[in-house]
Amino acid sequence: MNKISIVVPCYNEEASIPIFYKVIEETLKSMKIDYELIFIDDGSKDKTLEILKNIKDKHVKYISFSRNFGKEAAIMAGLKASTGDYVTIIDADLQEPPSLLPVMYKLIIDDGYDCVATKNSDKKGYSFFRKTFTLAFYKIIAKLSHTEMVLGANDYRLMTRQVVDAILEMKEYNRYSKGIFSFVGFKTKWIEFEIQERASGTTKWSFWKLFSYAIEGIVSFSTVPLTFSIFIGFFLCVIAFILLILIII
Ligand code: UDP
Ligand code: MG
Repeated sequence: MNKISIVVPCYNEEASIPIFYKVIEETLKSMKIDYELIFIDDGSKDKTLEILKNIKDKHVKYISFSRNFGKEAAIMAGLKASTGDYVTIIDADLQEPPSLLPVMYKLIIDDGYDCVATKNSDKKGYSFFRKTFTLAFYKIIAKLSHTEMVLGANDYRLMTRQVVDAILEMKEYNRYSKGIFSFVGFKTKWIEFEIQERASGTTKWSFWKLFSYAIEGIVSFSTVPLTFSIFIGFFLCVIAFILLILIII
């Protein structure tokens, strides 16, 4: 029987996890497939870890980080620990509906896709400010990078083991998953869904966290910032040399 691994990054999700667990368990049971749930506690300060420890279910594993390393690190740890033939990454807050899983699975099995990824062109649940900032980021990165970044792409996706292994081959220290997913290639089907309200709590991304994530994306997938720095360095060097000559004269 095929096995599916569900990777769930969690940061301060004490209220969402019980609801999420119930919904995902129902979905997976209806799919009649072997499964494992891998929760990654990303250094939560609330009772997330305690709640995970209390889930007595042979299908559930958890990884606990010593501090908050960020969602990217949690995804990487989850993918490394996964043993399934198919792997999903999904948020713990139910903004990404688990009910899409059977649809994604069918597309892989019946239509031969290696990956089924999700996107939302209209991020309804998010603030105007965040939507504007995100749109600007995608416009900038599209100009600067050769790697295709799909507007509104989520980390929520179902991948075959082959795709996961290709992602794990990439040993970058600063990871920008959306870029890595695109970089590894493979036959990918994009499906759209409407983002849901958070099951509980608020977003874990502050403006600065999101901003530095955007910078990480640009620096990881474009050489333009490096070329720009070289140019500035060279320009300043020439100015300094001219000034030196003037002083000597
Ligand atoms: N998350 C995480 N580490 C962080 C921030 C977020 O593991 O440092 C998790 C969070 O618990 C959730 C998922 O990543 O399951 C997406 O976070 P969130 O819902 O806050 O992001 P948004 O939906 O606002 O993009
Ligand atoms: Mg969310």
